[in-house]
Amino acid sequence: MTQGKSAVVVGAGIGGLALAIRLQASGIHTTLLERRDRPGGRAYVYHDQGFTFDAGPTVITDPTAIEALFTLAGKPMGEYLELLPVNPFYRLCWEDGTTFDYSNDQEQLERQIHALDAADVEGYRRFLAYSRSVLDEGYLKLGAVPFLSFRSMLQAGPQLARLQAWRSVYAMVSRFVRSERLRQVLSFHALLVGGNPFATSSIYTLIHALERQWGVWFAKGGTGALVNGLAQLFRDLGGTLELNAEVAAFDTHGQRLTGVRSRDGRHWQADAVASNADVVHTYTELLGQHRRGAQEGRRLLGKRFSNSLFVVHFGLRRAQPQLRHHTVCFGPRYQALVEEIFNGPALPTDFSLYLHAPCATDPSLAPPGCSSHYVLAPVPHLGNAPIDWASEGPRYRDRIFAYLERHYIPGLRDDLVTCRTFTPLDFREQLNAHLGSAFSLEPLLTQSAWFRPHNRDAHLHNLYLVGAGTHPGAGVPGVIASAKATAGLMLEDLSR
Ligand SMILES: Cc1cc2nc3c(=O)[nH]c(=O)nc-3n(C[C@H](O)[C@H](O)[C@H](O)COP(=O)(O)OP(=O)(O)OC[C@H]3O[C@@H](n4cnc5c(N)ncnc54)[C@H](O)[C@@H]3O)c2cc1C
Repeated sequence: MTQGKSAVVVGAGIGGLALAIRLQASGIHTTLLERRDRPGGRAYVYHDQGFTFDAGPTVITDPTAIEALFTLAGKPMGEYLELLPVNPFYRLCWEDGTTFDYSNDQEQLERQIHALDAADVEGYRRFLAYSRSVLDEGYLKLGAVPFLSFRSMLQAGPQLARLQAWRSVYAMVSRFVRSERLRQVLSFHALLVGGNPFATSSIYTLIHALERQWGVWFAKGGTGALVNGLAQLFRDLGGTLELNAEVAAFDTHGQRLTGVRSRDGRHWQADAVASNADVVHTYTELLGQHRRGAQEGRRLLGKRFSNSLFVVHFGLRRAQPQLRHHTVCFGPRYQALVEEIFNGPALPTDFSLYLHAPCATDPSLAPPGCSSHYVLAPVPHLGNAPIDWASEGPRYRDRIFAYLERHYIPGLRDDLVTCRTFTPLDFREQLNAHLGSAFSLEPLLTQSAWFRPHNRDAHLHNLYLVGAGTHPGAGVPGVIASAKATAGLMLEDLSR
């Protein structure tokens, strides 16, 4: 019986929102506490001089996972949110002017692959079949299954072995195609969820099939509209969302949590507590006074964390019709650059960039005739390269702008209306992200499934995790799947 039971979810990132919706829709009185003035977490939104800037996720995949939240709440998604298709999914560009439009059009894809290397057309077909089997096994069957015991990991062993999960994404792609450019096209996706394509398990090739299966989407009004739609759904179900509510500590009694306390002295009691905050912050800070927090915190400090990002949001007084919605700008190096991003010890001298041009899909994100953008460069986290971002940031931004002017947006600096940066320091300060990591624990096979922090703590029986730091991991589909796994456990426990 869950009647009269209550839960607190700490952090209103997309994972926290999805979990809060699932709990509230199942009759648990749920309070969602967020330290910032808006929900969204990495999917925060900035408004400036008529421009709207999405801070984080822009490539929305698996709309069925989002729709499922509205369906279980008994509300039509269309009343809250409109998803617009993005085509091509991405334009991939190299410095010599070569481009590759990655879309869902098999014929067009094969024509472009043929131009890179005729022999790779057949290899690509086989890769797509492999990627689809990984999607089926790794995401649809195992994505929302909580790996609480080593036995569950052993049970998944044969599937993981069949899929050759010990190989890296790049190594696996290379077994199917031989063009270096095509290998980049088919392996860069790992970077979107904080994975090094040369180290992350080939399980992450499933992103390719995920995009081919359900397409790439963009919320009308920006990803902020997706966040607002989820927050509104939660409120309409009767849930309580408290903003500017920074949790300072969990209250415990023996092996159970009794509630949480905010930095400004407020207190919430709950039968169960889930944390969507960074996992290291959760254990070392929020649970720091408990033996379990200190012990698990120490263990987590020994893990590998994903890279950080340097993000520049900028508004231009001109439209940029030459740009597609999503552009991946490959620099001169791939593997060597990726290794430096993931291991440091310094800021690489070159970069590969992701350029967001949302007005290609939704012109309402900028004043008439103008365009809003962000550009991001993956960079080492603060533990791998202790860069003084306060002084390096402006220099790095100027180098990126000069590069964009040369290759993608002529006259950028003349047309600049507004611009702001978000550095690894901001990930640390504003999101409590350990080492300023943009995606939490690195998605290595040795840090996935049972090896990742569990959706339910092993010792404190009513403490749960949701979001990028727990199973299955980062990315919008990943954190929504984590909410499903965590909600399943919480509802089962709360019904006892
Ligand atoms: C720039 C960028 C681009 C990305 N692009 C994509 C993309 O295109 N597609 C995609 O699928 N994924 C993308 N990702 C990844 C994706 O955005 C994240 O993995 C996902 O949004 C993380 O969600 P989460 O549920 O883990 O919560 P988070 O977004 O990490 O939110 C956690 C929340 O907890 C709050 N919090 C922390 N501490 C406390 C506390 N003590 N008390 C109260 N609240 C607290 C924080 O303020 C925050 O709001 C991107 C990420 C970044 C950074």
